[in-house]
Amino acid sequence: MAYPAVDDEPVPGTAVCDLDHHPYGEHMAMVRDLDTGGGEGAAWARWEDGHPPRLDVLPYCPSTTPSGSDACWLFEKHRGGHTWEHYL
Ligand SMILES: [Zn+2]
Ligand SMILES: [Zn+2]
Repeated sequence: MAYPAVDDEPVPGTAVCDLDHHPYGEHMAMVRDLDTGGGEGAAWARWEDGHPPRLDVLPYCPSTTPSGSDACWLFEKHRGGHTWEHYL
């Protein structure tokens, strides 16, 4: 699969979905963290099985652990569990 480039750095030729296993719908893989502290979010490759990926810049999920010590690094309104839930 050929990936479009966000900037002059090439995007890796393979991407693995970062979401919890899901039987249908779009797969999402973070391509690049764009956040410099101002809430820019990150660039994500999104694709459905058998279709070429698209790039999208999405804000981060606002979820954190109850103590606030860890934050979810997926995009806003993602499906599946928050990343920090895997480390509790
Ligand atoms: Zn997936
Ligand atoms: Zn989340």
